[in-house]
Amino acid sequence: MSDPLQMVSTAFELLRTLSFEERAAGLRRAADLLEERKDEFARLMAEEMGKPVAQGRAEVEKCAKVCRYYAEHGEAMLAPREVEGGVIRHEPLGTVLAIMPWNFPFWQMFRFAAPGLMAGNTILLKHASNVSGCAKAIVAVMAGAFEREDFVQAVFISGKEVEPLIADPRVRAVTFTGSTEAGRQVAAAAGKHLKKSVLELGGSDPYLVLEDADLKAAAKTCAAARMVNGGQSCIAAKRFLVTEPVHDEFVALLREELARHVAGDPMDEATLLGPMARADLRDEIHGQVVDSIAAGAELLLGGELPEAEELRGKPYYPATLLAKVKPGMRVFEEETFGPVAPVVRVKNMQEAIELANRTPFGLGAAVFSGSEARARSVAQALETGTVAINAQVVSDPRFPFGGVKDSGWGRELGEHGIREFVNVKTVR
Ligand code: NAP
Repeated sequence: MSDPLQMVSTAFELLRTLSFEERAAGLRRAADLLEERKDEFARLMAEEMGKPVAQGRAEVEKCAKVCRYYAEHGEAMLAPREVEGGVIRHEPLGTVLAIMPWNFPFWQMFRFAAPGLMAGNTILLKHASNVSGCAKAIVAVMAGAFEREDFVQAVFISGKEVEPLIADPRVRAVTFTGSTEAGRQVAAAAGKHLKKSVLELGGSDPYLVLEDADLKAAAKTCAAARMVNGGQSCIAAKRFLVTEPVHDEFVALLREELARHVAGDPMDEATLLGPMARADLRDEIHGQVVDSIAAGAELLLGGELPEAEELRGKPYYPATLLAKVKPGMRVFEEETFGPVAPVVRVKNMQEAIELANRTPFGLGAAVFSGSEARARSVAQALETGTVAINAQVVSDPRFPFGGVKDSGWGRELGEHGIREFVNVKTVR
């Protein structure tokens, strides 16, 4: 049998009958295999999408962690709940189609797959076209872990060819991680065919720096949050809203931190900033920078395409800092998916909150303040799925992750994540 969808669809009949302990054993083996092969997988990501190898290894280790997390906690999260007069069960749905992006080629898939398999669903992976090698590696890890190759399979088709798969009755649900534009199309198809969906889409995470913040620490965290994966992360810091009294000092500190991120060979252990994943993405971000400067933004670092000899055949883009950014400029209004930090000067906390929410996106946000109580009150006013206080927004197996507004719906990770693709069944 070589039809990947038929394979995973048939295998569901077996996976659903395995005990939680048997599923957990598979996930623990997957974690071991990931750790054994992390150097190889980090090199594969560096080759396919330019992630520096040190960051690639950390990504693979995080995948091992999420496998062990659900192996340990999944059963309790899905345990039947007795209520007076009956019981509520959590049963698997069947085969879930997973449409994934290239930016964290292993992590995006494992954070869905670990809870998905623990819940008893089989998976058909449609990975981004530029990371086919990673897709094959993930399928191989799962085949080794479960000692059979039909719990997770992949298809190698373009995004435009996905709708017939969503329509196929053997696919019971869809999880999509990627751009808001493609997410709309997936949601429309899922709606048309009445398939449950989870959508993890784009973001324009605001980082609010208030006048009572520890500026040095804030600048360090903000730079790291902007430069994660070369800026190509849904939860990278994408807009810095800094209150008047500390604006100039913060900008100087942020510039210092960003300047450390010199673009280099992703195969080099010391590289912090690799090339961007594709030339069209580099051109897109450069266009956003150029247009914003033309509209009045001030360029304080980077912002110029490297000379031909510096490109080494790869789409490099330098760490870039823009000040005097205002609503209406492209770097404020659109998602900036690259190493570009736009800073907005705001009068006070109230204006920071207002501009933070003035975006179609609602994925993550961060607040920097010396007062925990003040930071928590700001957190309450922000329209996002996650708020970090004096810290970077990260995904963590223990906490639900996802967005509101154009950043999508549904949650991954934590106990909310594992319950997205189950049939909550009442038996009485
Ligand atoms: P993308 O272009 O939307 O692609 C993501 C995946 O969707 C790829 O597998 C792609 O396949 C497929 N695809 C494209 N068009 C499709 C369509 N019409 N129907 C079905 N599938 C389609 O996104 P990307 O450039 O890879 O990733 C960057 C975006 O993802 C950013 O906006 C980022 O913020 C977002 N993201 C969000 C999260 C989150 O958790 N919220 C996490 C990571 C990334 P092809 O490669 O074959 O086109």
